[in-house]
Amino acid sequence: VITCKSQRELAYMKDAGRIAARAHEELGKAIRPGVTTKELDEIAADFIISRGGRPAFKGLYDFPANICTSINEEVVHGIPSPYRRLQEGDIISIDIGVELNGYFGDCARTFPVGDVSEATRELLRVAEEALYRGIAEARVGRRLSDISHAIQSYVEAHGFSVVREFVGHGIGTSMHEEPQVPNFGPPGRGPRLKPGMTLAIEPMVNMGTHEVVTLDDNWTVVTKDLSLSAHFEHTVAVTNGRPEILTLP
Ligand code: MG
Repeated sequence: VITCKSQRELAYMKDAGRIAARAHEELGKAIRPGVTTKELDEIAADFIISRGGRPAFKGLYDFPANICTSINEEVVHGIPSPYRRLQEGDIISIDIGVELNGYFGDCARTFPVGDVSEATRELLRVAEEALYRGIAEARVGRRLSDISHAIQSYVEAHGFSVVREFVGHGIGTSMHEEPQVPNFGPPGRGPRLKPGMTLAIEPMVNMGTHEVVTLDDNWTVVTKDLSLSAHFEHTVAVTNGRPEILTLP
């Protein structure tokens, strides 16, 4: 079942989403060579809790940390560690979920660490733009896979690939609700979008193959060819007008 949220519920989701987006801003100030991913996890948790929220990934399917930190070839679900220090030229994808008053917000972005190569900057630019191309399709009367197709066609036109095994999702009073929101596929398929539907749209974009592998920790997903991967995500509401991003600072 795909639930449609009332205006009041959307306001609650925006409150949760704002905390997640502002936690990203805090992390943006802290990301530099030498910092550990565990330190970033603590900064995010302290910030979220100080605003009355709860880091929603902690314990979700037994995930052991507050946020996901995925470096370079790591695609998603990297586990913060006191032993993993950022290095100049890395990229780090940070995924943050927040619950507040029973409603959820979910957003991700990939940050460069210091100076990165021109090719890496292009990967981040294309992944972020792909997210906005997807969001632009989150309109009443479109079908779900119009979002998927917009993302895939933009990414592939720029020579990169989209991950198939992990997808976006409905979100609201749970982190993961129906429907699944793939980042690939033909247009014109799936349910018609209605006002009040809330979707976490989250392209994962690889420099090389779209194929991924999960490491022995049973969490960290890496690209099969160890090429770089970027991840951008917003929680978005379908409205009678323009799509509304709920994870804004
Ligand atoms: Mg998500």
